[in-house]
Amino acid sequence: MQVPFVDLKSQYQSFKPEMDAAIQNIIDHTAFIGGKAVKDFEEAYRKEYGAPFFQSCANGTDAIYITLKMMGIGAGDEVITQPNTWISTAETISQTGAKPVFVDFEPDYYTLDPAGLEAKITPRTKAIIPVHLYGQPAEMDAIMEIANRHGIPVVEDCAQAHFAEYKGKRVGTFGVAATFSFYPGKNLGAYGDAGGIIIHDADLARKIALYANHGALKKHDHEIEGINSRLDGVQAAVLSVKLPHIHKWNEQRLENAKYYNEVLNGVGDLVLPRIKKHVKHIFHLYVVRTARRDELQDYLSQNGIGVGIHYPVALPFMPAYSYLGHSEADFPIVAKFQHQILSLPMFPELTTDQMDYVAEKIRAFFA
Ligand SMILES: *Cc1c(COP(=O)(O)O)cnc(C)c1O
Repeated sequence: MQVPFVDLKSQYQSFKPEMDAAIQNIIDHTAFIGGKAVKDFEEAYRKEYGAPFFQSCANGTDAIYITLKMMGIGAGDEVITQPNTWISTAETISQTGAKPVFVDFEPDYYTLDPAGLEAKITPRTKAIIPVHLYGQPAEMDAIMEIANRHGIPVVEDCAQAHFAEYKGKRVGTFGVAATFSFYPGKNLGAYGDAGGIIIHDADLARKIALYANHGALKKHDHEIEGINSRLDGVQAAVLSVKLPHIHKWNEQRLENAKYYNEVLNGVGDLVLPRIKKHVKHIFHLYVVRTARRDELQDYLSQNGIGVGIHYPVALPFMPAYSYLGHSEADFPIVAKFQHQILSLPMFPELTTDQMDYVAEKIRAFFA
């Protein structure tokens, strides 16, 4: 049996006629950039999210960069995030001229540890970016309490957590803004690059809309210099077809994760994902830990099972961040766990047979 890491093909098959028609419609109208499809998706996402403002852009990385830049963050400033995240979260801080400052994560949940946050705050701290990593919401009550007490705005990186919930409230509705990626493999994915920003402040929303569009809200009316970061018509149409399915897909991922947790319970030295009691985890990734990670990874690959590591080297230990002068002792939890984490196949259409096969192979490995 083959179990892919993700399976975008079977999802496409489930709505092929509708998807093909939506894409054909963009081509028929040559509405490649801007236009109705983009406006329609922006409005649909904003409404579905229950947010006051939503701005689409070219990808999830731009979403973070544009947001930080329009918050006025730049040289001499510091922005706090976590060390175990996709590089975009830190890269965009540097792109503004600011310095990324890392806080280790909560061992059970892989999200930013509020207990380590306050010690990293300095007079130069201009934002905090919690990442709702793997689809599990960060500990927002504690993070917001600390941020508010210091008057520091929070930007949520929701690239892996569309519509996840913390104490019944959606992630992306806590901070001043929240950034989303619609990269194809994300829980809500386009058929190319795409991104967006939820904004809770009208002034910031206007600045963000300007900056993403060459500083102009009307053609040839450049109020400021900006960048070209547009969602294109085809991606907007694809996302509009997919949006109505997102809650069902998130539910299926959660069900799959619970099934894995059942059938993998007590196998070898595996540490299974823990779900916080007060959240809705949407399982962008299903990540286990074992001291024999490299061997297990090879064994599963040889048996036709797609696996991944998110992420094999934490950012402070990457050559790109050697200039910050960190050592493993600065982030002991991520330094240890980066050698133990392994992501198993996870997507909504995963079947019980496929999960049974994965579990059977993992049991065989440890036997
Ligand atoms: C995917 C991802 C991004 C970047 O999104 P792109 O659309 O690929 O630019 C940012 N942050 C996190 C946590 C991600 O997983």
